[in-house]
Amino acid sequence: MSHGAAFWTEADWDEHELVEVVHDRASGLTAILALHSTHLGPGAGGTRFWHYADPQGAMRDALRLSRGMSYKNAMAGLPMGGGKAVVLLDNARTKTPAMLAAFGDAIEALGGRYVTAEDVGASEADMVAISRRTPHVCGLPAGKGELGGDPGPFTAMGIFHGIKAAVAHKLGQDSLKGVRVAVQGCGSVGGGVARLLAKEGARLTVADIDADRAKALAAETGGTAVGSDSVMGSACDVFSPNALGAILDEEGIARLDCAIVAGGANNQLARKGDGALLAERGILYAPDYVINAGGIINVSLEYLCRQHGEPCDINEVRRRIAQIPERLRAIWRESDASGERADLVADRMAQKLIGRG
Ligand code: NAD
Repeated sequence: MSHGAAFWTEADWDEHELVEVVHDRASGLTAILALHSTHLGPGAGGTRFWHYADPQGAMRDALRLSRGMSYKNAMAGLPMGGGKAVVLLDNARTKTPAMLAAFGDAIEALGGRYVTAEDVGASEADMVAISRRTPHVCGLPAGKGELGGDPGPFTAMGIFHGIKAAVAHKLGQDSLKGVRVAVQGCGSVGGGVARLLAKEGARLTVADIDADRAKALAAETGGTAVGSDSVMGSACDVFSPNALGAILDEEGIARLDCAIVAGGANNQLARKGDGALLAERGILYAPDYVINAGGIINVSLEYLCRQHGEPCDINEVRRRIAQIPERLRAIWRESDASGERADLVADRMAQKLIGRG
């Protein structure tokens, strides 16, 4: 975002329906609530609690993530629009009950147009605190076999199915046996993906800025831990980014030594044009917001179940997650037929679904 420009003139604005900046003096809460589209339903997307050195970065994050949620929810076939919230924390990352209460009030004031859940920096306990002020929250604690709870394992399940589909499409192989996968990020999503891949015989290289975390996951999955600065250049069949966004920039893409990029991090392409660099190198790309929809499928169904008494069936979550590969195949088929990049094909499909095609 360039200095001096109004944020609604920037590319990331992308015709948001509403962007609200909330400041509550008593609790010290400062938050941005961004609603990109409610064409398909209430804007659903998590809240990121983060310390931003540059507040313009917070606005950029809110806008980019919110548009991503519109696309993600539409491509997942959910009756939900796209939104996202960002809570700007101080340097010490102070998060108080009063801030969470004020944030819950801000969501409630939107009357159900925005529904929140966990994102980076948020916990189930935070969602419980918010739920004391508004019902428009999901990702609440769940028992075994119930809807809701930590979305990470469901996101991992979708990515695992997506990697299988990518391997079949690009390498013509139905099995993951011996397929080399480099997993960046060993957290909730990356760890889950690695465990599922290991069960099917994939050969893993794993990395995390927390080296002990990577070592523990490598030991558990029979993989090899490498440094977080070298994982992007690891020789592999599939590079699976499950840590931060914007890692696919000119330099990062030049370092890749893989046939496929398929992972859960949001907004992997640093700039829209970077998808062209992947395509030039012949690397198959699984658009991030399509492959990483498993978690939002789970928590959206939890919300719809609680609010509208819709079927509250964990098998419905699994059924919908199992449809992720077919969506990816439709994108790749169209991309192969038209020569248009996979990320642009996906954007066009999503825009059409949200009434902007
Ligand atoms: P997490 O915090 O559980 O794990 C992230 C891991 O990445 C941590 O272990 C962290 O140490 C590591 N990491 C951070 N920077 C790194 C780097 N430069 N190199 C290597 N490792 C690094 O988070 P998560 O829930 O697993 O989410 C991972 C990514 O997936 C995020 O981009 C998130 O936005 C995205 N995502 C998550 C979900 C979900 O359901 N949790 C859903 C959709 C998208």
